[in-house]
Amino acid sequence: MRFTIILLVLLIVSVYQAAGQETKIRWFGHAAFSITTPQGKVLLIDPWLTNPLNPESKDGKNALASVSKVDYILLTHGHRDHVGDAVEIAKKTGAVLICNPELAGNLVKLMDFPEKQAGTDAIMGIGGEIQIAEGEVTVAMTPAVHSSSVFNPKAGAAEAERAYGGNPAGFVLIVKNGPTIYHSGDTAYFKDMETIGEQYKIDAALLNIGGHFGMEPQMAAKAAKSVGARLAIPHHFATFPGIVQTSESFAAELRKLKISFHEMKPGETVSFRGSQMVKN
Ligand SMILES: [Zn+2]
Ligand SMILES: [Zn+2]
Repeated sequence: MRFTIILLVLLIVSVYQAAGQETKIRWFGHAAFSITTPQGKVLLIDPWLTNPLNPESKDGKNALASVSKVDYILLTHGHRDHVGDAVEIAKKTGAVLICNPELAGNLVKLMDFPEKQAGTDAIMGIGGEIQIAEGEVTVAMTPAVHSSSVFNPKAGAAEAERAYGGNPAGFVLIVKNGPTIYHSGDTAYFKDMETIGEQYKIDAALLNIGGHFGMEPQMAAKAAKSVGARLAIPHHFATFPGIVQTSESFAAELRKLKISFHEMKPGETVSFRGSQMVKN
């Protein structure tokens, strides 16, 4: 009897630990993802949660209403479809900003991003790595071939509507006891993506495939290969007219390259145990 109880307790503890060890990635549509670490820290990347694909923003719903806990907001660059709702979310949650210094400065100056959340040692540059979440996550900022500017809502008639946004970037996120995730931001394909693959063991690559402003699907598949991704997840498509509307051709190219593919539905969450995707 006592043995059975001990076994039962051990089983409950191990199930609890297994659940606690999961890393969850959620897609909100466009380039917006959240990553919840095994220790429960929440990272939000390019948080345009009010984008038209997000089921939480449809039918008059307010996508920001359900956002309560965010520890870090990561911005790849200053374009509006990536800065998105960062200011409102930062004010609501106290989240710390991770991006380049020029973008951080202009978000504070022009868009009233809370200054004390934008002036920490989480402001970083391409090529650098920082530790966040008490060392649970290492963030590396990687190059992107794109542009970056911040919309200035305070611009007068004679002023430029777009202010400097620093250099555009991507991120590699190394989650302790979890996957290593690459978010490409907005970028063209560039051959040096191979260097990212040499330096980091990318378990999941979140790649922009929409074309027009960045990689076309075929080149996005090439990017998956260059960074050595075990799994490729597309983003930045079908949000609005003028960009690629389906991930079909991306998936077809990946099949040729024998790289795993998963298309997330907007609002979907996938879980990883260690570096392995376990369910969705
Ligand atoms: Zn952009
Ligand atoms: Zn974009």
